[in-house]
Amino acid sequence: MILLDGKQTSKEIREEIAIEVKSLKEKGGKTPHLAVILVGNNGASVTYVNAKIKDCEEVGFNTTFLKLSETISEKELLQEVEKLNTNPDIDGYIVQLPLPKHINDQKVIMAIDPEKDVDGFHPQNLGKMALNLPTFLPATPMGMMDLLDRYNIETGGKHCVVVGRSHIVGLPASILMGRNHYPGNATVTLAHSRTINLEEILRDADIIIAAVGKPDFITADMVKEGVVILDVGTTRVVDKTKKSGYRLKGDVEFAGVSKKASCITPVPGGVGPMTRVSLLKNTLRSARVKL
Ligand code: NAP
Repeated sequence: MILLDGKQTSKEIREEIAIEVKSLKEKGGKTPHLAVILVGNNGASVTYVNAKIKDCEEVGFNTTFLKLSETISEKELLQEVEKLNTNPDIDGYIVQLPLPKHINDQKVIMAIDPEKDVDGFHPQNLGKMALNLPTFLPATPMGMMDLLDRYNIETGGKHCVVVGRSHIVGLPASILMGRNHYPGNATVTLAHSRTINLEEILRDADIIIAAVGKPDFITADMVKEGVVILDVGTTRVVDKTKKSGYRLKGDVEFAGVSKKASCITPVPGGVGPMTRVSLLKNTLRSARVKL
């Protein structure tokens, strides 16, 4: 069994990015610049945003952090978005989700300049992805494709079952796995809560992408020998032995499934770090386009 080590792989990619940024700066080029908008004080969002900013600083990017009040109106937030759209120094930016209930997420995403949408959530970028045109890919599916690529995992002609159809993970992952491209060229089944006979479908899968958000949802009896597993799930479960009081659990019951799998991502340390590095790749890509 090969452990698909997202922590190590993302470290290698970050080092490659840092070298490119250093060389850009030496040649007098532009320093990539990511801005992050955070509305309110949601604990998980604050942690994610701090990690993203730290990642940027480590590879030599400039960052701008806009921490906005929980009570900001939708109109005021859209004005902040417009300022970033028109600021020529900002190569890309993200609006950390979820937003407070009085703000329409979709309206805000639609207002982001697609050329600066380094989260790859704008419909224009999702459309380009579906058409196999160059664009910003959503971070989590992109990270998974990089992991498959770095480990040279064959995907062509394989049956890939994606469980979960969210707009940020499952749906784009299913599109990427079905593209006429490596990694891709798989025969894809996109499963969700209305799928009938999921266990039977999973037992036929060569590759499983689990993006459900239910700990230990997929167990050893549901997979075949040699399966490749990408476990996206990260659910916080209480763990009094940890300083934080919790630990992260994936959607796949690791102890049992890893005995049958040929390759599997751990949680944590699998898909999560690859997601973080994808944002850096997209920001660098945006800065490069402007050279
Ligand atoms: P989400 O929006 O809640 O979507 C969950 C999906 O699972 C839905 O499509 C849902 O189906 C499906 N589902 C629920 N119960 C099911 C069942 N019994 N059988 C089959 N499908 C079922 O979640 P998400 O945002 O995609 O996130 C999924 C997990 O990944 C979460 O644990 C999240 O924390 C984690 N995550 C991790 C990363 C990372 O970088 N590691 C990034 C993003 C998300 P319906 O559409 O029919 O409701």
